[in-house]
Amino acid sequence: MRGPAGASGGAAAQGGGAGPRGGSLLERKFQRLGLFGPADFIVHLPLRYEDETRIQAIAELVPGVPGQVEAEVMHSEVQLRPRRQLHAVVRDDTGQIALRWLHFYPSQQKQLAAGRRLRVRGELRHGFGGYEMVHPRLSAAGSPLPQALTPVYPTTDGLPQASLRKAIDQALAQADLSDTLPDALLRRYGLIPFADAIRVLHHPPAGASYQDLLEREHPAWLRIKFDELLAQQLSLAEARAARHKQRAPVLPARGGGLPRALRDSLPFALTAAQKRVVREIAADLARPFPMHRLLQGDVGSGKTIVAAFAAAQAIAAGSQVAIMAPTEILAEQHYHKLGAWLRPLGVETAWLAGSLGAKARKAALEAVAGGRAQLVVGTQALIQEKVDFHNLGLIVLDEQHRFGVGQRLELSRKGESVVAGRNLIPHQLNMSATPIPRTLAMTFFADLDVSIIDELPPGRKPVLTKLISDARREQVLGSVMAEVRKGRQAYWVCPLVEESEALQLQTAIDTHAMLVQALPDMRIGLVHGKLATAAKQEVMQAFRDGEIDLLVATTVIEVGVDVPNASLMIIEHAERFGLAQLHQLRGRVGRGAAESICVLMYQPPLSGVARQRLRAMYETGDGFEIAQRDLDLRGPGEFLGVRQSGQELLRFASLETDARIVEQAQEAVPIMRDQYPEHARAHLDRWMRNRKDYLRT
Ligand code: ADP
Ligand code: MG
Repeated sequence: MRGPAGASGGAAAQGGGAGPRGGSLLERKFQRLGLFGPADFIVHLPLRYEDETRIQAIAELVPGVPGQVEAEVMHSEVQLRPRRQLHAVVRDDTGQIALRWLHFYPSQQKQLAAGRRLRVRGELRHGFGGYEMVHPRLSAAGSPLPQALTPVYPTTDGLPQASLRKAIDQALAQADLSDTLPDALLRRYGLIPFADAIRVLHHPPAGASYQDLLEREHPAWLRIKFDELLAQQLSLAEARAARHKQRAPVLPARGGGLPRALRDSLPFALTAAQKRVVREIAADLARPFPMHRLLQGDVGSGKTIVAAFAAAQAIAAGSQVAIMAPTEILAEQHYHKLGAWLRPLGVETAWLAGSLGAKARKAALEAVAGGRAQLVVGTQALIQEKVDFHNLGLIVLDEQHRFGVGQRLELSRKGESVVAGRNLIPHQLNMSATPIPRTLAMTFFADLDVSIIDELPPGRKPVLTKLISDARREQVLGSVMAEVRKGRQAYWVCPLVEESEALQLQTAIDTHAMLVQALPDMRIGLVHGKLATAAKQEVMQAFRDGEIDLLVATTVIEVGVDVPNASLMIIEHAERFGLAQLHQLRGRVGRGAAESICVLMYQPPLSGVARQRLRAMYETGDGFEIAQRDLDLRGPGEFLGVRQSGQELLRFASLETDARIVEQAQEAVPIMRDQYPEHARAHLDRWMRNRKDYLRT
């Protein structure tokens, strides 16, 4: 699998073919940075540069910016107060500055003999007695200056820059720097050769623009960013091609049948957007390779019924369908709702959750294994090893962002069944209300087809969002009373207590008690994660049936819960919640025809980020806009919930600022794959060596 670049050298840069574990102490430190062989070292690129090419006058130094002067020592001494430290004052023709070391060696003291001329390098800052440098580096004045900017590499504890530089220089001499891009693409996108880019970044030539290098706008950086994004796109395209080679049960939509009966039985008509996505999914299910589709639609856009149509088609074609939700409350609601739609049409359903009694579980497992249960709804319990499916053809994951990558894999593995000697992989439909901003979708989910419901069912009115300080709790109680008097229902969400689940539970119980006392005429329920399943179900059912006016809840109701008559949402300590979470919570109201209100109670003073989050909630109800702002506030890694063991998803390119390069890389993918397959392989080899595992999922 070596391409033209032959980038898979096995030898570590520091001699000796070190394996992934072991080796000398130095090698182990390199390995911690993902540096195994020369090919890794050459793409370990500087974080920034230091300009040591010239000497500045003391008067030219800018506080906060590293600088370098040559100056004469006026005096130096070891001071004992406020703590032991080495102190010196140096001057040149333009001024003087103080130097300070809190840790120092006798040799440094000697170096600082009065009258000596020294080169001093460090960052100027404003100290107690005027401008000073803390822990500056010293060297002899007059020694030759470097000709180029000095690279500063990402490093790890106890690994000095000098060792990294040495190893990288060695690797530069050994590694194959030949290009993995054909000339045609270099010309097309105005890119410089790989070898040039790499050399420039490790050893910027005299006169290279410090600014361009720092801001990663230098042509060398542009080339590297292109390479990185191309590698990512290529590997995703490869994943897609591999998926197309897998086999899945063919589940065609035969005219009429179950889906039509479902449509005829609904009390509402599907929106145009729902019809479109139902068609997209129907076409996927009829293909002989597994569907891998994300159904995206804002909270309340009606994704569940779309899943029901997909299930109906699969069941009509003779397959089993599994629907998995991240919380028991939501799974139970789905069981309820899908059952109400499909059971009257003759579909057999089963329910599987962790809390099921032994007898009920046994019966459910038998129904699933024997194939009698056609639709199986549940929580993570569905992927437990005991569950055997008879012929699973479709998996639906609701609120898919709540599941870990491992859980998703587990579920699809579960469905692999051997039919006539061929492995059949079930189709998979992921549903999410958390919209993935376009650039993210392009970069990370290229092997996911995306269907979007961009329309809400008719008659919905936007939710009115109010920001109210904690101090005005009385006013909030008044709103609750007014809403309930109109025959409607309300949620009261208790504050998130990050430090302790027990504390959070206590808060919910206290809040419930407080509300019962403050609103004696109201029927008030309480639901939280520690409640037994039966009790939880009972409360939710009572709320659905309108027997509870006000539901006090923890975030267990965050996702999916659907009670259209509820029109008021109170969120206490809204400043503690994340933006996506607030949007989800707010989405529990505004599901019926009534005008709905969401009250975000907050406790001043607000931190800057909290203020921005609440402002976003106040300013927009559009999930897409919210997601974009969330991305801006949190950055892509956290946004996706994938913080890979310290290894960033993208090391050099940035999705925000390099959108144009993302587009070019995407455009280049088919060219590479069709016309230059050898180059494509070499390119992946160079850039994806240590990251294959991540991309497989
Ligand atoms: P979400 O996309 O948040 O999962 P749901 O599937 O829970 O939304 O649907 C929200 C509510 O809208 C449900 O009560 C559902 O029955 C209802 N609904 C879905 N589609 C339509 C439609 N086309 N017309 C009217 N109501 C609909
Ligand atoms: Mg939902």
